[in-house]
Amino acid sequence: MNTIFSDAQTRLTDIFEHVQLSDDIRERLASPKLSLSVSIPIRMDDGGLRVFTGYRVQFDDTRGPTKGGVRFHPAVSLDEVTSLSFWMTIKCAVAGLPFGGAKGGVIVNPKELSNLELERLSRGYIRAIADIIGPKRDIPAPDVYTNATIMGWMADEYYQIMREQLPGVITGKPVHLGGSLGREAATGQGALYVLQQWALQHNLEPVKTTIALQGFGNAGYQFARLAQQAGYRIVALSDSKGAVHSEKGLDVDKIMLHKRTRRELKAMLYCDASVCEETDHTTITNEELLELDVDVLVLAALENQITAENANLIQARQIVEIANGPVNSQADAILATRGIPVLPDVLVNSGGVTVSYFEWVQNRAGYYWELDEVNTKLKIIMDREARNIFALAEEKNISLRTAAYIYGVQRIAGAISEKGTREYFQTKT
Ligand code: GLU
Repeated sequence: MNTIFSDAQTRLTDIFEHVQLSDDIRERLASPKLSLSVSIPIRMDDGGLRVFTGYRVQFDDTRGPTKGGVRFHPAVSLDEVTSLSFWMTIKCAVAGLPFGGAKGGVIVNPKELSNLELERLSRGYIRAIADIIGPKRDIPAPDVYTNATIMGWMADEYYQIMREQLPGVITGKPVHLGGSLGREAATGQGALYVLQQWALQHNLEPVKTTIALQGFGNAGYQFARLAQQAGYRIVALSDSKGAVHSEKGLDVDKIMLHKRTRRELKAMLYCDASVCEETDHTTITNEELLELDVDVLVLAALENQITAENANLIQARQIVEIANGPVNSQADAILATRGIPVLPDVLVNSGGVTVSYFEWVQNRAGYYWELDEVNTKLKIIMDREARNIFALAEEKNISLRTAAYIYGVQRIAGAISEKGTREYFQTKT
């Protein structure tokens, strides 16, 4: 069956062609360590009971406690959560963090819930999975349609269950509740550090570089804001409801302000004079945004956005994946033959989990860092891993994704091998 997970696993097949690794590694990375499906009964505001389905999948913990976000989305499925937990395993290894990978999700459209219902659901989810998480076991964080407030509720629920404050159980918490400075912007900031390294090596001058961005959630917004500050021209933006385009460039913060008040980018069509007067833009569809003639297409929405169906229509000179899995393996092959490089998710968006790691370290030490310290440390990791992966791709003449996977899987393989593989045991007996 063609699942997201089977597609994700084909990337491993690719890398085993380039590096010599024990079959044991392949075997270990073929299926998750633990998959939990839960039912979460929630009392709704109208007095009725609704039972939501949730998941937590811990993929591999060889390198440390498992780590990964929780998404609240109507399209969540066990297949998706399993794939995301696999990507987290690779991502944590790519960034060199002492974590394995996990992911969680609840099938829900949070936009349809009141804040009180959302709080009950967040707490209910933690009650359902409390037995398998913990600061030394599995550490959730935000993902699509979850945020710092939700992490605060989740952490609080866990403290109540455990009867002690254990802030290291969840990252991405509000700063006043033990969160780290810089976590909110970390995914976007990390992605920009990677793009800057790429730009440096490919002589892309920010002021002459146009960007189209799909996805205006937290990561997409933070990236767009910081990229604009760095001089890049954001010519198109989209969210789940619509997209706007302007060759002159869009004012990211004004659009965010507008989105917050009107809740959708499409509303820009009818927008108040304040924004319309200043941005000479047109409304386009999401498909049109993906096919724009721009220097950089940044994908910050959901998985499977570029597939065999539209990969031939992409005109961007390079693609940057801030979302997890936005380009599938068939599209990867088409883009590679067309010479369009894809800066892969497991590198580009690893800034989020990297600052989650910093938050976990600060929680466990009980000592909190200044923002400068967070960003300096983040930049060191992103620059280093980006440079290593770019160099490996060039040296072996392989895609950036294959290079990133080789890089990450070799770290995981190192950890698995230290526990002994078939080769080791055969020679010793
Ligand atoms: N959900 C984010 C990701 O996909 C962050 C995970 C984390 O901070 O643990 O990388």
